[in-house]
Amino acid sequence: MTTVAVVGAGQSGFQAVASLRDRGFGGRVVLVGDEPGVPYQRPPLSKAYLAGTAGLEQLHLRGEDFFAEKDIELVEARVKSIDREARKTRLEDGRELDYDFLVLATGARNRTLPVPGADLPGVLTLRTRDDADRLRASLEQAEHVVVAGGGFIGLEFASHAGRPVTIVEAQERLLNRVATPEISAYFADLHRTAGHTVVLGQGVAEMHGDSRVREVELTDGTRLPADLVVVAVGVVPETTLAEAAGLPVRNGVVVDEHLRTADERIFAIGDCANFPCVQAGAETRLESVQNAVDQARCVAAAITGTAEPYASLPWFWTDQAGAKLQIAGLLAGADRTVVAGDPAEGKFSVLSFRDDVLIAVESVNRPADHIAARRLFTAEPKPAYADLEASAFDLKAHLK
Ligand code: FAD
Repeated sequence: MTTVAVVGAGQSGFQAVASLRDRGFGGRVVLVGDEPGVPYQRPPLSKAYLAGTAGLEQLHLRGEDFFAEKDIELVEARVKSIDREARKTRLEDGRELDYDFLVLATGARNRTLPVPGADLPGVLTLRTRDDADRLRASLEQAEHVVVAGGGFIGLEFASHAGRPVTIVEAQERLLNRVATPEISAYFADLHRTAGHTVVLGQGVAEMHGDSRVREVELTDGTRLPADLVVVAVGVVPETTLAEAAGLPVRNGVVVDEHLRTADERIFAIGDCANFPCVQAGAETRLESVQNAVDQARCVAAAITGTAEPYASLPWFWTDQAGAKLQIAGLLAGADRTVVAGDPAEGKFSVLSFRDDVLIAVESVNRPADHIAARRLFTAEPKPAYADLEASAFDLKAHLK
């Protein structure tokens, strides 16, 4: 009997095993994960779960009965090593697990700040359910909260923490890596209006304290009072196993267009995978639910005999400061942007072009634009600047 072992029981690992069964795979399916309980989704951790409006049950991707019904073995353990020749993985508890196909779905871990005091009590991060529980408990007691990092996770934390915080971003704008300047400026205003202090262009130089953190010192010498610091400065892909097994790793486990590593029996998906991205025209590693889910489906198809190159459209969403931002496409290489709609009304989209072809649409509270963009991006030819200009950049007018 063919055995598929999946390492990492997060968003992509769960989807891989579920899709294998959906596709009628009749072999043995084992999902090994090092977090306790059934697989859960991370997006609510910085939104409704943090705010206390969603409970544990709402995090779960499926209940225990799903795994029993689908004959999916859920193993709670950390995989320590892969023996590629013997097609075996070794678990930290000493067990061994044979495989015919192995899927690495190991995700990413949070970056730490390489500054003095970063290990003081009260300096926390957010990736797992345990992290979110710790943060919720700390928020109840904290008086001064500083968020280090103005990316998606830091800003969502600020939005759902239920109190004013200070957001410190080393770059000159929020969401610097992931959004256009128009979107950055809009959200900086929203967060300030919501009562948060936004400090741009200043990094964290040091954290001071005694039995816990008391102050955050910025690179310009400013000292901010803090008894809770949330470090949200990005992630690094979890590639330890792949590296030790001699698989190529470069900002993630390197895979081909079928998400296969250099070993034809081993795939990598989700946050840990660096894949040739059609939309970016380059090697890319994405951190999103869409990417995790679609890559898992692609690998399940390959294992069950219908391999297709991975080409799904990247899309993303975030809820912060009372607004919903949805992004379709990728901004890489954008050389022109147009704003459609009125930011002052809180509903608008930023259209980004490369060589006069539409490559990304960021929509704020305009879900119809987002849906239209996703449809336009999956059709050919891609909308050109001149055509869109003729319709006053109304995306819906171009749907066939
Ligand atoms: P994960 O879901 O991280 O799963 C990897 C799992 O592998 C982990 O459980 C890890 O512990 C386990 N693992 C690692 N190594 C081993 C090993 N050796 N043995 C056993 N197990 C191992 N995306 C969006 O699109 N929209 C959002 O709004 C959004 N919000 C987010 C909010 C938060 C707080 C976070 C943290 C992420 C958010 N994301 C969001 C990103 C999204 O959740 C991730 O892109 C997605 O979870 C990636 O799935 P994955 O399976 O690759 O990794």
